[in-house]
Amino acid sequence: MNPTEGIYDLIILGAGPAGLTAGLYAMRAILKTILVERATHGGQVAITKGVENYPGFEDISGLDLSDKLLHHAQSYGLEVMRDEAVAIKPGADLHTVVLSSGRALKAHAVIIATGGNPRRLGVRGELEYVGRGVSYCAKCDGFFFQNRVVTVVGGGDTALEEALYLAKLASKVYLLHRRDSFRASRILQKRIHESNIELVLNSEITEICANEDGVHSIDVRDLLTGNRRTIATEGVFIFVGLLPNNEIVPPGIKLDSAGYAITDEKCATDIPGIYVAGDLRTKFAKQIVIAAAEGCTAALAAADYVDAKKN
Ligand code: NAP
Repeated sequence: MNPTEGIYDLIILGAGPAGLTAGLYAMRAILKTILVERATHGGQVAITKGVENYPGFEDISGLDLSDKLLHHAQSYGLEVMRDEAVAIKPGADLHTVVLSSGRALKAHAVIIATGGNPRRLGVRGELEYVGRGVSYCAKCDGFFFQNRVVTVVGGGDTALEEALYLAKLASKVYLLHRRDSFRASRILQKRIHESNIELVLNSEITEICANEDGVHSIDVRDLLTGNRRTIATEGVFIFVGLLPNNEIVPPGIKLDSAGYAITDEKCATDIPGIYVAGDLRTKFAKQIVIAAAEGCTAALAAADYVDAKKN
C-alpha cells in the first residue's frame, strides 16, 4: 500500500464562507483536500434571510449564496464529508483530526473554520420554549408567526436585519435592546427608524412566559428605572451575538479573552500547519466577505506550507 494513501495535504473544518473559500483555493492550488462539516453548508449565512453586502450580489438569499459557494468549490472536485470533528491532535509531521464516527484523518495542514453559534440570552423560559415561540432563526421560523406579535432581541446587524424581515410577516414587531443605541450598521438603523417596528430600549427580558400553546408574553425590566412590565408576544427571536466554536482548538493555539483564535496575517496559529479562518478568528469586523478572504489567505498559506514540507 502507498504510505501516503489516506493522507491529505489539507483538512478544512467547517463549510461556511471561510471553509468553502479555503476549499476553492486549496483545490486550485492542487492540494489533496477534504472538508469536514457536521451540519449543512453555509454556516450562519445559511440561516440569514437576505445578504445585501457580498460584493457582486446586490441581494441574494443566504441559502443561495451558501449553495453557490459550495458548488463553486465542488466544481474543482473538493471532497466534502458530513461528520463532526471532535479533536485535533497536532503532530510533528502530520496532524490528526478525530471524527465523531471514530474515524481519524491525517494531513500536513488543517484550517479550522468552525465559526460560531448563537449566544443564548440566559433567561428563564428561553431554552424550555425553543421551537414553541423562542427562535434563533427568523428565516427558519418566521413563517409560523405570520400576523402575530413577535419580539426581536439584540442591537447588532443580525437583530436589526431579522427584525426588518419579520416586520413583513408579523402583525407587530418589538425590537428590544439593552442600551439606547445600536451597534448595527447605520443603513439598518435608518431602516428600523423608518419602519413601524416598536423600540423597547434600555431593557432586558427577565422571563419568557408560555402555556400549553406556546409563548404568550415576556416580562421586561427597564434598566434605567427598574420598572417592570409584561409585553404580550407569541414569538421571541434572539440575536445577541455569536459564541466562537472553539471546542476543537487544540492547546497551543492562543485564544483572546472572548475565546476567538489569535493568528498572524496568514491566518497561521502558533502550531505550524494549523490555520484559523472566519468568525472563529479574532478580528475587527465579522463579515461574509472577510470570512471568505480569510479562507483564501489560509488556503494559500497552507499551500506554501505543504509545498515547503514536501520539497
Ligand atoms: P453583535 O454584533 O455581536 O451584536 C450582538 C448584540 O446583542 C449587541 O447589540 C449586544 O448588545 C447584544 N447582546 C449581547 N449579549 C447580550 C445579552 N446577554 N443580553 C442582551 N443583549 C445582548 O452580533 P450579531 O448581530 O450577531 O453580528 C455578529 C457579527 O456578524 C457582527 O460583526 C456583525 O457586524 C456581523 N453581521 C453582519 C451582517 C451584515 O453585514 N449584513 C449581518 C449579520 C451579522 P450591546 O450592543 O449592548 O453589546
